[in-house]
Amino acid sequence: MLHLLRQVVEEVNSARDLQSSLRTLVGRIRAGMEVQVCSVFLWDAHVERYVLMATDGLSADAIGKLTLTQNQGLIGLVGKREEPINLGDATRHPNYHLVPGLGEEPYKGTLAVPIIHHRKLLGVLTIQKTEAGRFGDEEEAFLVTLSAQLAGVIAHAEATGALSGLNLLGDEQTDVRFQGVPGAQGVAIGQGHVLLPPADLKAVRYRPTDDIEAEVALFHQALGGVRTELRATRDKLQIELRPEELALFNVYVDILDDAALGEAVIERIRQGEWAQSALAGVMRGYIDHFEKMDDAYLRERAADMRDLGRRVLAYLQESTPTQAIPDDAILIGEEISPTVFGELTGAKIAGIVCTRGSANSHIAILARALDIPTVMGVQELPWQALQGEALVIDGYRGHLYYRLSDEKRRHFEAVCREEAAREAGLESLKDEPGTTRDGLAITLLVNTGLQTDILRSQDRGADGVGLFRTEVPFMMRQRFPSEEEQAAIYRAQLEAFAPRPVTMRTLDVGGDKSLTYFPIVEDNPFLGWRGIRVMLDHPELFMVQVRAMLRASEGLNNLKVMLPMVTSVSEVEEALAIIHRAAMELNEEGLSVRVPDVGVMVEVPSAVYLISELASQVDFISVGSNDLTQYLLAVDRNNPRVAAIYDALHPAVLKALKVVIDAGNHAGVPVSLCGELAGDALGAVILVGLGYRQLSMSSSNLLRVKSVLRQIDTDWAEQVVAGLLHLDNPRLVRSTLQLALKKIGIPLSALGLAPAG
Ligand code: PEP
Ligand code: MG
Repeated sequence: MLHLLRQVVEEVNSARDLQSSLRTLVGRIRAGMEVQVCSVFLWDAHVERYVLMATDGLSADAIGKLTLTQNQGLIGLVGKREEPINLGDATRHPNYHLVPGLGEEPYKGTLAVPIIHHRKLLGVLTIQKTEAGRFGDEEEAFLVTLSAQLAGVIAHAEATGALSGLNLLGDEQTDVRFQGVPGAQGVAIGQGHVLLPPADLKAVRYRPTDDIEAEVALFHQALGGVRTELRATRDKLQIELRPEELALFNVYVDILDDAALGEAVIERIRQGEWAQSALAGVMRGYIDHFEKMDDAYLRERAADMRDLGRRVLAYLQESTPTQAIPDDAILIGEEISPTVFGELTGAKIAGIVCTRGSANSHIAILARALDIPTVMGVQELPWQALQGEALVIDGYRGHLYYRLSDEKRRHFEAVCREEAAREAGLESLKDEPGTTRDGLAITLLVNTGLQTDILRSQDRGADGVGLFRTEVPFMMRQRFPSEEEQAAIYRAQLEAFAPRPVTMRTLDVGGDKSLTYFPIVEDNPFLGWRGIRVMLDHPELFMVQVRAMLRASEGLNNLKVMLPMVTSVSEVEEALAIIHRAAMELNEEGLSVRVPDVGVMVEVPSAVYLISELASQVDFISVGSNDLTQYLLAVDRNNPRVAAIYDALHPAVLKALKVVIDAGNHAGVPVSLCGELAGDALGAVILVGLGYRQLSMSSSNLLRVKSVLRQIDTDWAEQVVAGLLHLDNPRLVRSTLQLALKKIGIPLSALGLAPAG
């Protein structure tokens, strides 16, 4: 059975399209399970019916024509119950529905299982046999396993099929919608611009070429270039390497010299394919071939082929001019890293779509800072096919639309106009104080990272910087910035906001924040070498950064230093020792610097439990609610599969936030919050009700939060929040608070939540 399972999944995976994958599937199952019939019905949401997509055993004429409603037959029942049904004689079941001409009459024993992907019912898979009698437990378990494995493949094939603009019945379809996770709110209308990961053999897509000779020449040039590169490296390392390692270089050169490889690629180019996909296709063939070998040594050669293929591809890509980014570009990629994104600043980007990641991935945080509507984690999206296509992003709901109808387009254009009007309405608040209606001052700070954040923050009248993510400028470089370079970056921030405070976080890499020149490869990076752990293990890097911060603050004295990912008191003690030493050294060198206020971020459960001990060591506390939510709920902040259970309004998070603010108040240590929760209008109300008086957020949210806080009274917020703390589920927390706000005249639209439609 396991063999059959693997075989079916592999075949379905490699099929060209949904139709042929389902045809293969039913044929294999019917033969492999020795039954008379196997059929697949898929649910078509556009027509709200199940469609018979493939059958082996029933009338082939019915394929693509026979449809059933949600309530019809055993298929409808299985879909509704979302559980398998195993009947000795289906004809006796009250839901049995005989379709004339389908040829179902002779079959009695029937097993039908739902096909479910991420809680969504895709369809039903059935097997039938002539004799009466239930299928065995083992057969049932097998079909359930198969269906679970196939669900992802079918969802992907369906999504790809949707791009053709046809529904399952072959009818024209508009407003094709792909579901992701909201990344940054707002609506964007624009055209897709695909960002391929560099030198990735799997990501390269077929493209026809008009200039075959130029592509052949390009390929020869790339081959020659890599050959020369390899020879040069080999000669340089001649003395240092052992003979067997040197031999590897020769093997690489030999492979490149091998006429067969070059010929195979050139043959594909001559058939009209551009060099990149011709090379990728040939290399993928070689890699597959080696990977399937029984001999371990030969299997290892697959890695060599992959490496070589990547080198030649990188050469080709460097020599091919990249397509210009259009003005209304909607960037699309698997996982657009903040580094790539940083290189694009200057281009006008309308929106961003990533097939991985979720609302708290760093690219989404950057997008929010720049007000770029973003959808994350659109898992099944056939993204490479969307280059140049007209698209719409609904960043409120996490939707990406394709083949938009005129009606829907008009709707989104109206939403864009409303958004612009609302933003313009908030501008008048820029110079108003951040106070509640009863006059309690709330300090509204900004989170920064990019150079452009300075201007945007000043435009919105921020009270200072509550979190400067220093890793952002580090990500934009090819090596660690020097002390001088860092000092210049930090000085720009400090000067721009002086005398208002600027809280600089020491380098927080690891997790999903990586530096190309300092790769951290781990099985479990979020529980690995992150934040302060990395810096304490590299005192030379830490020292340079702290010295640069202190030097930059000379004469301004508005610097605060903050330590990320602290889990133990000893980490704070060690960091403090380095900060004090840096100040001492600089003063000995003739500068006049003060030891800044030093604070600790509360991002992990241990810091919540140790809050009093930590408070006694530091000058301030800042809660990083993004990571705190991740670690309290044990939900990866980047994983779209669990994005629905990542919720900073979870009662456990709210209770932890209360512990922290109460302990801070008790110790007389100021507490702020700099996670995304502070920039969420609902979150900000809760925080004020809990006792937080300093909130740091993306500048794009500042005026909206200010506007809402200016309409509420502190007593009211405290009372509402006291009630929320008794609720046991985040959805209830959200709806209760929304209702309470509505009652005092603050509608959903003022909270920046999704507009209707
Ligand atoms: C946080 O974790 O809440 C935080 C502010 O830090 P980052 O999002 O950069 O990890
Ligand atoms: Mg964090």
